[in-house]
Formats: sequence, C-alpha cells, structure tokens
Amino acid sequence: MKTTINERRTHHRIYYTVYIYLVFIIIIVIIMAAIRKMAMDEKIIVLGAGYTGLTTAAELVQRKFNVQVIAKSFGHMPPLTIVGTQSRRWPGTAISNSLHDSDKLLKMELASIQRLLPLCHNTELTGVSVIPGLKVSKKANNTWNGRPIESIELLQKATKVQWDMHAISNPKNVDKNVIEKFKSVGYKSVSETQVIKIETEKYFKYLINTIHAGGGIVSFGDEINANDFHELQRKNHVINCLGINSHTVGNANGKYYSSRGEVVIINNCLENFDYYVIDDDNSSGVMQMPDGSLYLSTGAEDGPDQTKNSINDCKLIFKALFGTDDIPTIVGKKGLTSWKTGRIMREGGFNYSSDDKNANGFVTTQNNGHGGAGVTASWATAELAVNNFLSKI
Ligand SMILES: Cc1cc2nc3c(=O)[nH]c(=O)nc-3n(C[C@H](O)[C@H](O)[C@H](O)COP(=O)(O)OP(=O)(O)OC[C@H]3O[C@@H](n4cnc5c(N)ncnc54)[C@H](O)[C@@H]3O)c2cc1C
Repeated sequence: MKTTINERRTHHRIYYTVYIYLVFIIIIVIIMAAIRKMAMDEKIIVLGAGYTGLTTAAELVQRKFNVQVIAKSFGHMPPLTIVGTQSRRWPGTAISNSLHDSDKLLKMELASIQRLLPLCHNTELTGVSVIPGLKVSKKANNTWNGRPIESIELLQKATKVQWDMHAISNPKNVDKNVIEKFKSVGYKSVSETQVIKIETEKYFKYLINTIHAGGGIVSFGDEINANDFHELQRKNHVINCLGINSHTVGNANGKYYSSRGEVVIINNCLENFDYYVIDDDNSSGVMQMPDGSLYLSTGAEDGPDQTKNSINDCKLIFKALFGTDDIPTIVGKKGLTSWKTGRIMREGGFNYSSDDKNANGFVTTQNNGHGGAGVTASWATAELAVNNFLSKI
C-alpha cells in the first residue's frame, strides 16, 4: 500500500521528535553521570575515627568515593565487643534510649551483622568471629529472641541471619555440661544463640587498611573546634562522626550526653572457655580475651564503687565457670585493669541526617548519637548516612 506525501511527512515528524527526545535523554544521562563523577572525585571529610567514623569512611571508599578521615585520636576502643545481643535480649533495649527498644534496632543489628559475617572468614586479619552466646537468668523462660516480631519479612530475615551465624560459629555450640553447670548455680534460664565477637584493635587496623586500599587518607592529631568545622563544611562535603562533640563542635541537632560504662579486665582466668555469657538480670557480660585474661562488661553505675560492683555483679557467672565466687582467688596476683568510658547518647536516638547543599554546593551529614549500640549499628548507620548524603548531592 502506498503512503501519501502527508502521511510520510507525519512519519518523518514523529521520527524526528523521537530522535530529539532520545538525544535529549542521552545528554541528561551524560550530564548526571558527569555530576555524580565530579561529586565522587570531590573529597569527603569524615570527622572522627571511632567505630562510627572508620566504618563510614570504609563504606564510602567501598562506594568509590574519595575520603579523608580527620580525628584527634581513635575513639572508644573496647578491647573486645559483642554484636548480636542488643535486640535479642528481652525487651530488646540497648543501653541507650527508648527509641532503640523496637524493630528499628533489630534491623540495624541485622544489617551490621550481614556486613560483618564475611569478615569472620579471616579472623586473624579482621578480628571478627562468631562464638556461642549464653543468656542466663534467675527467672524462668527468659530466653534470647523473646521479643515478638510482627513482620514476617523481618522474622524471616532475622532467622536467616541467625542460621548464617550458626553455620560459621566456632565452636558451634557450648558443651551440654556447661548448660548444666549454669543451672546448678541457680540460673533457671540458660539460653544459647550465636553472637559476633570483635577484637577492636585488629578490626580498626582492618578498617584503616580498607580505607587506604580505596585511596582514602586517615590523619590523626588534629583537634578541631567549631570554627574549623564551619570552615571545613563551607569548602567540603563533611560527615560528622565526632561522638560526644558532634553537637558542640559539629553543630549537630539534639541533646547529647554520656552514660559512663566500665570494662574490667582481670589478668587471670582460672579456666579457659570459648563462649560469651550475659547475666540478663544485671546486664553483666563475661568472656575470655585472646591473651587468656577475663573480660567483664557490666551495667554497674558510675561512682567510686563501680569496679567493685562490676566484679560482684559477675559472681554467679564465676561460680558456674570456675566453681568458686571467691574474688581474691579469681583476681589472683596479676590484678586487674579498669577501662572506663562513656556511651554517647542523643535524646531522639541515632542521627544520620543530611542537610541540603550549602551555598558552595557542599553537603554536611551526621552520623552520631548511637549510645550503647555504636558497634551494633555501625554498618547500618554508615549505609544510611551515605545514602542520605547521596540523596542531597
Ligand atoms: C563499657 C561499654 C561497653 C560497650 N559495649 C558495646 C557493645 O557491646 N556493643 C555496641 O554496639 N556498643 C557498645 N558500646 C557502645 C560503643 O562503644 C559506642 O557507641 C561507640 O564506640 C561510639 O563510637 P563513635 O565512633 O560514635 O564515637 P567515639 O568512639 O567517641 O569517636 C569519636 C571520634 O571523634 C574524634 N573527636 C571528637 N572530638 C574531636 C575534635 N574536637 N577534634 C577532632 N576529633 C575529635 C575522637 O578522637 C574519635 O576519633 C559500649 C560502650 C561502653 C562504654
């Protein structure tokens, strides 16, 4: 069938319009890619080198950004720390604030665990491993994972992560006799799961190596004040991971305060054991350090008797572990080391928001206020903070 001249003209007009549209879309895509590339080439300043700053910088280099970490020194470095208990202990509250008493904390914990699990395959290098964890209580039926989860999707995800942890846990489980020993000293509930153990010094080295390998820079020794911060954010993208100084130096929105906590290391251990145990009734966690010493992290309140109370809070666990709760025998001649520091809280909970671009086109992002869940939430908030930053550039 022959087409008329008018029909051919109409076809040409349609082809021409489509062609123009396509060229226009391609130009827009090229411009957007160029803007994104320029943004990625611009240096992002991460302020702070604690769990939050180093994880945020590692997240950025893994997404191919150009990163510089600036900090006075390393942040809080608990010799060992545990991830996987915050949302699993009934009622699932982190020693932090009420906002963490929810599925929100579980989601953060699962996201971080998923990022930590691959690192367990090279514990020597990363300091990350999975070990069995016992939750013990004088109350009956006080188990891990007692908090009901309404969302089927979240429950499935939590179950999958739990199985993944079980698969690589070393050892996989505690001996049956261990459970009996804890029951024999008066614990009515002895519940087992798997938890992530992090040796902080090794892990920080691993994070710094990751940042260096991605072309990033980590520099220590600079104490910045509010004016320095203002200057930095005027000329750079900045992510504020300054812990307790996030507000005073970094002008972060909210009320920040510190809850003093203590870790006690007893330089002696009467018997070796390879699992973590937490007394749910007084929040006392006990495990053995890689050098064989005994690690206690408790909920004992700040004050002149904190160390004494920390040790006393662990007496029933000692009885189950060593068959004695006589403190002089347990401490022995090598003595102990007390490690006191603060959990940095923020009324209103985690802060990982981003401002709009400033007059020079730079974005300031927050990542702070994690309280007693700064390790647990580290990868999750790093991801959220970087996503928020990306949504603004
Ligand atoms: C006893 C105890 C036990 C804990 N156990 C757990 C646990 O089992 N699981 C868990 O998830 N969390 C735990 N936490 C909480 C966790 O340790 C913290 O949430 C986390 O360490 C906070 O890290 P951060 O990087 O946000 O802050 P910080 O570690 O405080 O880092 C702040 C960084 O900012 C830098 N900085 C600050 N001001 C300036 C300045 N003016 N100029 C330059 N640099 C500056 C510092 O040098 C540092 O590098 C525990 C905390 C305590 C106290």
